[in-house]
Amino acid sequence: MQITEYYKAATVEDAYQRLNLDSSNAILGGALWLKQTSKPIQTAIDLSALKLNVIKQESAYFEIGSMVTLSQLYDADSLHQMTDNLLKESLASIMGVAFRNMATVGGSVIGRFAFSDLITPLLVLQAELVFYHQGQMRLTAFLDQKKPPKDILISVRIPTIKGRAFFKKVSNTVLDFSILNLAIFKHESVLIGVGARPGIGTLAQAMMDYLNHADKIDETVINEAVEIGLQTIQLSHNQRAQKAYRKQVLKTYLKRGLIEVMNCEH
Ligand SMILES: Cc1cc2nc3c(=O)[nH]c(=O)nc-3n(C[C@H](O)[C@H](O)[C@H](O)COP(=O)(O)OP(=O)(O)OC[C@H]3O[C@@H](n4cnc5c(N)ncnc54)[C@H](O)[C@@H]3O)c2cc1C
Repeated sequence: MQITEYYKAATVEDAYQRLNLDSSNAILGGALWLKQTSKPIQTAIDLSALKLNVIKQESAYFEIGSMVTLSQLYDADSLHQMTDNLLKESLASIMGVAFRNMATVGGSVIGRFAFSDLITPLLVLQAELVFYHQGQMRLTAFLDQKKPPKDILISVRIPTIKGRAFFKKVSNTVLDFSILNLAIFKHESVLIGVGARPGIGTLAQAMMDYLNHADKIDETVINEAVEIGLQTIQLSHNQRAQKAYRKQVLKTYLKRGLIEVMNCEH
């Protein structure tokens, strides 16, 4: 990482103006990913004076500031009680505590990492993103943007919906990137997210539609849903795993996860 100038923003507007002054200006989150990159940064913009490192509980949602670290998020007990520890489990699978003390929620979302163990659970929790310029949008809409405009992520909002959850990260070693990850969240309806396919996390829409319209949930319905999932969720190969391997582990954990969250005997 090569930085020419460091700038500590006084307000979000100030950060936004500075970011858009030059195409090679960049916001600093924890800078852990930026440090791995070789593209030179003209001005690195520090948001640490903007009080974005706070988690607030409102009646309709939890608001997670973009500068909240993964460790702070890991310690957000009331959020984890509501979401059956979904985020806590996913965060526990990301490197170690020292790393999570620095990595931020903002950098993790804006990075749109295909291997992300945070984006997949955020998808099933129906997270909304609050940007300074673009305003509020669904995480799914942000992931669908081909080339997102340069903007400042202010916070991530998670609706206060209580549910049962399942999370699985498949990786070669504990500290490695995901070969596949899976998040399931069940409240009135069920949401299923699959990441590191190796494409970025996505909702398993056809499978969710099938399950959410079923009259009853038993093992036969779950088996049929898993088949629909395997036919419709796009999987591929990369240096970490073959498509066939991903398909096999997805089949196993989809069934296991659904039986768990649907409270279904088998
Ligand atoms: C060695 C290594 C191993 C990792 N392993 C895993 C893993 O197993 N699982 C996993 O899920 N993740 C993993 N990650 C990713 C990690 O968890 C973080 O998501 C990543 O480091 C980005 O967070 P950061 O705070 O360091 O962001 P930075 O590196 O500071 O920023 C990343 C990008 O986001 C932009 N940005 C940051 N904040 C904002 C904001 N508020 N508004 C607008 N733009 C912003 C930056 O300009 C930059 O483009 C790993 C990362 C590294 C370096």
